[in-house]
Amino acid sequence: MAASLVFRLHDRGPEVVREVLLERGWEEYDQEKRKEEDWNLYWRGSAFRNSEYHNLLPWQRLNHHPKTVGITRKDCLARNLRRMRATFGSALYDFSPTAFILPNDYTRFLSEYNKLRLSRGPSAYWICKPVDLSRGRGIFIFEDIKDLVYDCSVIVQRYISNPLLISGYKLDLRIYACVKSFHPLTVYVHQEGLVRFATEKYNLSSLHNLYAHLTNTSINKFGPFYKTEKERVGQGCKWTMSKFRHFLHSQDIDELLLWQRINRIVTLTLLTIAPSVPSCPNCVELFGFDILIDVKFKPWLLEVNYSPALTLDCQADITVKKGLIGDLIDLMNYTLIDSLREKAYQRRGYTQPCFHANHPSRSPFQKRRTGSPSPQTLPLIKTLEKMNQRQSRQHAFVADYQRHLPPVDIDKTHASRGRIVDTTANKTRTDRKTLNLILSPHSRTKVSVVNRQTCPALAPWLADNSPRVSEVTDHDATEIEAEMELARETDVSSSIRDIPHRGLGFRRSKLPNIYSGSHRPVKMERTKALNRQHIPPLRVGDFIRTFPFNTATLRASQHQLDVKIVIQELHRVTAQLATSGSKLRIEEEKVKKDGEEDFDSLLWGPKEPPLLSQFFKST
Ligand code: ADP
Repeated sequence: MAASLVFRLHDRGPEVVREVLLERGWEEYDQEKRKEEDWNLYWRGSAFRNSEYHNLLPWQRLNHHPKTVGITRKDCLARNLRRMRATFGSALYDFSPTAFILPNDYTRFLSEYNKLRLSRGPSAYWICKPVDLSRGRGIFIFEDIKDLVYDCSVIVQRYISNPLLISGYKLDLRIYACVKSFHPLTVYVHQEGLVRFATEKYNLSSLHNLYAHLTNTSINKFGPFYKTEKERVGQGCKWTMSKFRHFLHSQDIDELLLWQRINRIVTLTLLTIAPSVPSCPNCVELFGFDILIDVKFKPWLLEVNYSPALTLDCQADITVKKGLIGDLIDLMNYTLIDSLREKAYQRRGYTQPCFHANHPSRSPFQKRRTGSPSPQTLPLIKTLEKMNQRQSRQHAFVADYQRHLPPVDIDKTHASRGRIVDTTANKTRTDRKTLNLILSPHSRTKVSVVNRQTCPALAPWLADNSPRVSEVTDHDATEIEAEMELARETDVSSSIRDIPHRGLGFRRSKLPNIYSGSHRPVKMERTKALNRQHIPPLRVGDFIRTFPFNTATLRASQHQLDVKIVIQELHRVTAQLATSGSKLRIEEEKVKKDGEEDFDSLLWGPKEPPLLSQFFKST
């Protein structure tokens, strides 16, 4: 039963996730046939309950981190960005249109409205959006305050009235960013994405025409011109990002600075919540960043979507979203999680949770969800715990799971159950007792075959013809080595190799990478991996790592995220970009200290990024 990977979809969707996973040989969870814990990925559009995070088993993953509402609700985002602006300066946090949360900020809005009215006359526009609605629902644009009517909490935002247009049509970008981990912060931006068009020509004298001012597909697909062949835009209302990039190239527009700025927006936005998101190593999150570009080619953040739409409305959707989900699954690297589950299911006792994220001192055999065990079951639990000491591998799973969690006092929680060996040579980490591995005398594992090899045709770039196996013996002398091997094995991010670029989308092969020209793979020498600061892989499919982006930010995010240092780094490079001429040469972050690997700064692109003025060579 436990052989293949199993996914659970809440409310039967999204279909593209099902399709991609089934194509890869996964099985869909069926509650009639499977045990409650017998799944590897649970995907839902809405938030998980706290208990679902707490009861996660080591091999299980959720598609949401807890508590990310700070950027995904319009009012929270506005508030958080305001706070960051006040702390770190408006020069850095200048990428979101001024926003007011009404009714609370009404007086402040009024004063700004009047100020603009005096300085610019009536040509200042505003957009009003209900804070907790999406898909363009309840949105309207206004010029005169008398038209501002609302009956729920809304944000009123400066309307970017000079958007980039293609043949007169407004557009915005849907950028997919995956937060692989908040602790340490690890962010990937997908190189593909969507461009969403309005379906009627932009016209400031018809503010009520939503088909001209909003780019939501959910609105435009009901517009009268949705199916019409529109000049340059074509039918429908979406392009792939590749097609957009081809457009930029055809106009002789250099796009690199744009991507650098967009990546910076993603990073700065995530920094607003990163320190407050609880650590949950078994979670991953795909955010949809909506970015509007103005005529000066400045990208503006409109909003961040929790559970970005994965419906397949058109060919662009199919191309982008199928590739996106495939890459997301690769990024999660399920190869070893599968073996964890398989092994656990081969052992008695693992139908109960082996670890409780918020109560690390709980016995693995305490009953799930029902709190403390009853007095009648205590003797049984003790016996099982003794037996469990012989099952060291299980402990290692738990320990490995724990090592991603906030520090807990392992001396109290596990010392009595096994030998504690500090495998981390790096003494700066010793305060994190969660990095310890717990060993017991009879370590033994079976050969575990990486799941992708079970389906090589579907992941050809991974098929190296020999099954990836991880094997340890029960030989005493090799035990520590074996545990380290296991740790590497279960350390998802270190074990992902850089996956070659996969052709996707519109005439993709002719386009250069939009990120740094230097795509040397991060070489992680496996045997030394644990002793080094951990460098997440550079790219996985079309996901490009954008944070950490240099050695300083890698260090600043290793333990407790040091936002100040990250901001300093961003400031430093932003200032260089702003003040230097075309001879600007960004220092490459190639620090080779203490045997560290080279570390490329992806965020800032090539060594000599073009000036903004060079974007429009023809004008
Ligand atoms: P929703 O969550 O309802 O989609 P958005 O904030 O994404 O709300 O806004 C919907 C659309 O309205 C955007 O895709 C964009 O086309 C337009 N829009 C939103 N805010 C602005 C703005 N400040 N300036 C210009 N256009 C905007």
